[in-house]
Amino acid sequence: MSEDLVRGRLHRVLERRLRPARYGEGVPLTVTAWHAPGEPVDVATALGAGYEPFGAGERWGPPWGTTWLRCTATLPAAWAGRRAEAVVDLGFTGVGPGFTAEGLVYSPDGTPLKGVHPLNRYVPIDPGGPGGVGVAAAPLAAGTRVDFLVEAAANPTIHQPYPWAPTDLGDVRTAGREPLYRFGGAEVAVVDEEVRALVADVEVLDGLLDVLGPTEPRRYAVVRALTAMMDHLDRSELTGTWSARTARGMLAEILRSPAAPTEHRVTAVGHAHIDSAWLWPIRETVRKVARTVANVTALRASHPELVFAFSQAQQHAWLKEHHPALFERLRAAVADGAVLPVGGMWVESDANLPGGEAMVRQLVHGKRFFLAEYGVESDEIWLPDSFGYSAALPQIFRLAGATRFLSQKLSWNQTNRFPHTTFWWEGLDGSRVLAHFPPVDTYNSDLSATDLAGARERCADDGRTSRSLVPFGWGDGGGGPTREMLEHAERLEDLEGLPRVRIGTPAGFFAAAEAEADDAPVWAGELYLEVHRGTYTTQADVKRGNRRCEHLLREAELWCATAAVRGLAGYPYDELDALWKEVLLYQFHDILPGSSIAWVYREATQRYAVLERRIEELAHAAMAALAGQGRRTLVFNAAPHARDGVPALGAAAAVEAAVPHARRADDGGIVLNNDLVRVEIDPRGNVVSVYDLVAGRELVPAGAAAGLLRLHADHPVGADAWDVDEHYRAAALDLRDADSVGLAPDADGVPAVTVVRSHDGCRFTQRVRLPAGAPRVEFETTVDWHVPQRLCKAVFPLDVRADDVAAEIQFGHVRRPLHRNTSWETAKFEVYAHRFVHVGEPSYGVALVNDATYGYDATRHVRSDGGTTTVLALSLARTQQFPDPHADQGTHVFRYALVCGADVSAAVREGYRINLPPRTVVGGDDVAPLVTADGPAVVEAVKLADDRSGDLVVRLYEPLGDRARVLLSTTERVRDARLVDLLERDAGPAESDGDGVRITLRPFEIVTVRLRLESGP
Ligand SMILES: [Zn+2]
Repeated sequence: MSEDLVRGRLHRVLERRLRPARYGEGVPLTVTAWHAPGEPVDVATALGAGYEPFGAGERWGPPWGTTWLRCTATLPAAWAGRRAEAVVDLGFTGVGPGFTAEGLVYSPDGTPLKGVHPLNRYVPIDPGGPGGVGVAAAPLAAGTRVDFLVEAAANPTIHQPYPWAPTDLGDVRTAGREPLYRFGGAEVAVVDEEVRALVADVEVLDGLLDVLGPTEPRRYAVVRALTAMMDHLDRSELTGTWSARTARGMLAEILRSPAAPTEHRVTAVGHAHIDSAWLWPIRETVRKVARTVANVTALRASHPELVFAFSQAQQHAWLKEHHPALFERLRAAVADGAVLPVGGMWVESDANLPGGEAMVRQLVHGKRFFLAEYGVESDEIWLPDSFGYSAALPQIFRLAGATRFLSQKLSWNQTNRFPHTTFWWEGLDGSRVLAHFPPVDTYNSDLSATDLAGARERCADDGRTSRSLVPFGWGDGGGGPTREMLEHAERLEDLEGLPRVRIGTPAGFFAAAEAEADDAPVWAGELYLEVHRGTYTTQADVKRGNRRCEHLLREAELWCATAAVRGLAGYPYDELDALWKEVLLYQFHDILPGSSIAWVYREATQRYAVLERRIEELAHAAMAALAGQGRRTLVFNAAPHARDGVPALGAAAAVEAAVPHARRADDGGIVLNNDLVRVEIDPRGNVVSVYDLVAGRELVPAGAAAGLLRLHADHPVGADAWDVDEHYRAAALDLRDADSVGLAPDADGVPAVTVVRSHDGCRFTQRVRLPAGAPRVEFETTVDWHVPQRLCKAVFPLDVRADDVAAEIQFGHVRRPLHRNTSWETAKFEVYAHRFVHVGEPSYGVALVNDATYGYDATRHVRSDGGTTTVLALSLARTQQFPDPHADQGTHVFRYALVCGADVSAAVREGYRINLPPRTVVGGDDVAPLVTADGPAVVEAVKLADDRSGDLVVRLYEPLGDRARVLLSTTERVRDARLVDLLERDAGPAESDGDGVRITLRPFEIVTVRLRLESGP
């Protein structure tokens, strides 16, 4: 018989005969239902609700609704001594776990037991447990009474009927009320353990056939054994002597044959990737976490070998708040070493866009939660799914006490295959961490033979290691490992033809990898993901909210610490802690990147407004306390650089500069001049000349315009919110015509040009001005648009020939080449920066700074006159349609500025300035800076120590890639100065003398200093 027929026969035997035989005799459960109105309620409320009869085939669940099911039965007395399980079918649609209906099972005393999803539908019957249910099936008593509840969530499938189709299901307000599911019924049935084991045997051998080569003798041995087993099934059916034990015996030898001595070794780590929001709102993640943790801790009862890596402290904290009983179960499992808090971050954040200080706080809050709750500190950073990794991260990880890093996302690259499996990743400053990219190329493995053989094959390509880690368990929407996966793992420990699989811990894996890592390759610099480039731009309001809150928190901490040290106000520890954690939550790798449903963005933008208001209030209260009584107008400068006569981190009356002049040109255009820069705007509102009067240099090439708005049709091949594909460049429309061009002074008397343009029913208002006494051209662009699938860029063609672009990232900048010599540079056709990008020739440079955007692209063009035009183009917003059908439609305001004659140091300074506008407060005397850093290093944070000792904590870094000597001084008397890590733990004495603390920083080094003051608050 052909092998195809053998396998066809095998699949039919599995599906029609073996899998159903895992359960014997059954009795239906009597089900009643309470369709909860509105948002989810707790189990106590559900227990007190009124239930109605509910049967198989009945419809339930408007999108995002919850139906509570109460399931009862009295089991036949004849079942005494046997084991049984309830099986619940919520009406699963064939869509995988985490993307369809799911449930959490409770005993009638309100204790959560385990989750149910399409591939995990059972509820163990335990006559000793409340309601006759428990976490593992126990022998039945005579006439066991069963009674349990299921909290069934009608989560819609967002990415159906075909991927990336716009849908209104992504917000409860637009999703409608039509029920999504049809209840499939529930019963209790006795369990046949031997058949279950036979099914696992057969599934593993069937998988093995997927990967064995066509001529391998092992292949035919497996086919022969399976054929013999099936023949036995058919024969014994006729004679009524069917026995799973006999069938298993016929497969035993083939399952005993060991793996080759040199076989690839896999450390299998149980995991459930749970996106903190994505195709569901945050509130549903809270429930997903409960279902998954219930599953994992219940599974331990039957599979004590299970090890489960559980990242994201925020998810642990949700469990503590909403499900204290489950949290205690989790805590016990952590204490036993069965659950490993990994990653040490508050959430698995995006790793490109969060600011430096925010990335620090991701680690501080994550690690601190794990230390406080479990006494556990993880050495591994766990970011399997974030969309690329900045070159600053190795140093940040190490300073937080983490030396290992796990991801796999670069396996998604569309252009270049990432060449390493286990390697040293070297950051901007030279810090290295040991990185592992599991060659299984997924964080959701089911331990299938295909996955394992794929890991082996890709690892062999690398050629340096024969060991890899495989995270297994249902993920994205949670679920976690199943007992079937663990049954397979048992059989894969030492099986000829497949890698050796051992359940183990990430720490154990990394220790073994580290022992072999002496000659591991080194990857230096950023880990750029060659896909998902739209995530730097999509959902502009969230980008703005994040940037704004990051800078507001800097201000609030600085002024509150200054006021507290001077005895003028208390330090709002609890509030700052809560505010930071919420800002960190929205940096999750599907929220800040813009890839979640509409509901998530409705909520996030509302919350950003609340957060901004509250942080502003904290900052203002502290500034008012510092300003004291009086009638002087004080300007508070939270930036790390002095400006307009106001010292960095202090307050004083600002020095006024001469107001720029403006005049109408003969051709109807407008000329602005502040004696440093002269700007010419043509009658259609285009900035056709930016002339640096100091350098005597024109920045805008002939015929070009600076700050031009360019619209692109933006139709990605794959996922709307995620991807901007290079073909977007083929369709571009420059908005060069104006409805009106006006000239009027701003409130500060500075003349500003307002240009209004319209296109396709959308309105673009651009204000251009030259500030007094500074060589920069400021743009404020208001975009009000309602057309889907458009990308709007602000384009700056510059007469500059540069080799590369310096782009700000966390705590420094990277230089990205402007040539396209290799496929690696070609793939970076859209990249990101934080507050500035800079291009320059050796003696002249230009910076483009912004207050809320991240995505940009840079290209270089040689003109017919032999000169070079370097084009910097900021990506402002993208009106994409999936998963949020109306992403970025509406009104947005963007501020950016072109800084003439800027070196990188000026770019750093101007980047801070545009994000930290001056604040004026009426008061008395100047406010001396609490902290002064003399030298090129930048003060990033001034705060009081998290341990509430009153110690002052100052974090600074070197931003230019140069060595820096700094004298850090304070107005207060210092009793002791210590260097500390990011968690403010001692790292040795700081060199100090009567003048202050003397620090030498390596290029891009981050240093945190802790000062014990004589006058602590
Ligand atoms: Zn994810």
